[in-house]
Amino acid sequence: MAPKIDVDSCVGCGTCAEVCPQGVWEIQDGKAVQVKPEECIECGACVDNCPVQCLSLEITE
Ligand code: SF4
Ligand code: SF4
Repeated sequence: MAPKIDVDSCVGCGTCAEVCPQGVWEIQDGKAVQVKPEECIECGACVDNCPVQCLSLEITE
C-alpha cells in the first residue's frame, strides 16, 4: 500500500517522484498524486525524503 499523503502540507517539490523507484508519484497542480499506487513496494524512500514530512507509511493488519 502506497504511503498516505497529507495533501494540505505537500508543497509540490517533486522529491517523492524523483526518489521513488516505482514511479508511484507525479506532481499535478502543485501536489503529489499517486498515479501507480499498486506499484509501491513500501521502501520508504519518499517518506524519508519529503522535506515537510507529509507522507507516512501506515502498518495495516
Ligand atoms: S514507499 Fe517507495 S515505492 Fe512506495 S511510493 Fe514511496 S518511494 Fe515509491
Ligand atoms: S516530497 Fe513531500 S512535499 Fe514534496 S511533492 Fe512529495 S509529498 Fe509533496
